[in-house]
Amino acid sequence: MPSTAVEVIAPAVVLRVQPVGDADVVAVLFCPERGRIDAFGRAVRSSRKRFEGAALQPFNEVEASIQPARKGGLPTVRGAAARAHLLGPSPTYAQLVAGSYLLEMAGQLCQPGHADPALYLWLITWTGACGRADAAALPLLLAAAELGALWVAGMLPELDRCARCGAAVAAQGAAWPAGGDGLACRACCPPGAPWLPGADLRAIDDAVRGADPDRVASVAAPTWALVSERARSQLHHALRGPLRTGQAVADTLRGASAAAGLAAP
Ligand SMILES: [Zn+2]
Repeated sequence: MPSTAVEVIAPAVVLRVQPVGDADVVAVLFCPERGRIDAFGRAVRSSRKRFEGAALQPFNEVEASIQPARKGGLPTVRGAAARAHLLGPSPTYAQLVAGSYLLEMAGQLCQPGHADPALYLWLITWTGACGRADAAALPLLLAAAELGALWVAGMLPELDRCARCGAAVAAQGAAWPAGGDGLACRACCPPGAPWLPGADLRAIDDAVRGADPDRVASVAAPTWALVSERARSQLHHALRGPLRTGQAVADTLRGASAAAGLAAP
């Protein structure tokens, strides 16, 4: 195939669109089979025909025609059609804020030229859940999504056994000491560490691995508070830098977080 042949990439989610000049853009797409694609779009904002219905917008799952890069430049988006909007047809502001946080996280975790269907499923699942949730549920969903991102990245500690001695913790529960590498059973746990019930740990494990947002609500708020704090400090190591949208999440969802007894994301 000649290097200038236009390829159809589908599906792909539009993670970000950066305006360039009056009509052009640089779009960041995430395709499950191809990973992250940064592509130049010429006259995207003036050509409604090639980019039907303003398809090249964040949250759209699209079918995109991409011309490969020449001479070290970016590939070019020749056209795009939207197949779905991850948040649904009319998201609230809080849903947009939560969803933007997940799009940015996906943009940092996906790699160019690196297939990552598990991360793609993660993005579709948790962004979709944000699009169906009311504002009070969004902090819990984001906490679960962060744990899910750790799992996809292979960095989530096992939630069914002690990281130190390997003992099963499903029945008794466990502590998750700060700075440790995972859960600690009663025999291994440092004095005074807060205790997490086994049922909560099982529900979190199921929600995160099974990408099942419906399990999130059954977990006690104090458990979420601790687990999400630990997850966030680990997620730090997986990300390339702080998330720009983190402040908007803290500002917008703080009221809901406080009501649920959680630390703000
Ligand atoms: Zn132990």
